[in-house]
Amino acid sequence: MSFSNEVRDESARIIPEKSCCMRAELAALIAMRGETAVNEDGTCTLQLESENAVAARKAYRLLKEVCSLQASASVVQRKRFKQKRFYLSQVKLQRDDLQFLQELGLIDGEGNAVKYLDTKITAKNCCKRAYLRGLFMCKGFINRPEANYHLEMVFNDTRMARDVKKLTGKLDLETGIGERKNNLIVYIKDSEKIVDFLRLIGTSKSLLEFENVRIIKSMRNQVNRQVNCETANLGKTIDASVRQVELIEALIARLGVGRIPVQLRELALLRIDHPDSTLKELGALMNPPLTKSGVAYRMRKLEIFAEENLYGA
Ligand SMILES: [Zn+2]
Repeated sequence: MSFSNEVRDESARIIPEKSCCMRAELAALIAMRGETAVNEDGTCTLQLESENAVAARKAYRLLKEVCSLQASASVVQRKRFKQKRFYLSQVKLQRDDLQFLQELGLIDGEGNAVKYLDTKITAKNCCKRAYLRGLFMCKGFINRPEANYHLEMVFNDTRMARDVKKLTGKLDLETGIGERKNNLIVYIKDSEKIVDFLRLIGTSKSLLEFENVRIIKSMRNQVNRQVNCETANLGKTIDASVRQVELIEALIARLGVGRIPVQLRELALLRIDHPDSTLKELGALMNPPLTKSGVAYRMRKLEIFAEENLYGA
């Protein structure tokens, strides 16, 4: 199962506890997947389309909970052009139900499903989160954390996309907005913000999975940075050594080993024999051994001596 499907599936299994949140989440489902139709007997059918049985059951449950008890609800499975199966969660609305849903702002005055975000229904933070979960269930995509961090929701309506961006902003979650083909995308690319999103919609299992991979990835990056840093230091050591060896060889060619002062001569010869060694390692080879700073001081004196003799500086 793709990670998107995992998160959508987990979202579909969460039933809000409070009735305000049930209404908010149902509003999201209606905005994304809802249709109404007037029946011959004058009643109205509200139906929600879902791609899988879990989502359909949730839609059914929310319809049942939010609408009055007289409403008859059912789930039917259909095939579209022999391709994908889809599910319809339907509820037949009596006049009272219709009025009730209109008052809630889920259905407009003409009896059509409301396709925009009604701020009344998402006034409370708990309801904003439920609404987001409903949107993600219908229109959400998320990359596996092993890949690039990316979460998005796809809308075919500018107003809806802007309102969703505003909604996440009110939950202190900054989202980007962009266009792709004829759709508008509300997206998050920052891993910490994706974690926040998963926390907001309450998908704790997916959140844990995401966090685990994120921690492993960040540890791996840290190790890489350290290795790069050590490689850079090694590079510096070698550059310095190459310069020192050239200088010492030129000095010996000019003066001969015997005219290099005794206290510098041992270090000069050790450097030529051990071009890859660090100053600390050279110090350990000396008799008596010298500390790193002692070697550095003596190397500096050797370099000055060599430069004076070679270039008369
Ligand atoms: Zn609520």
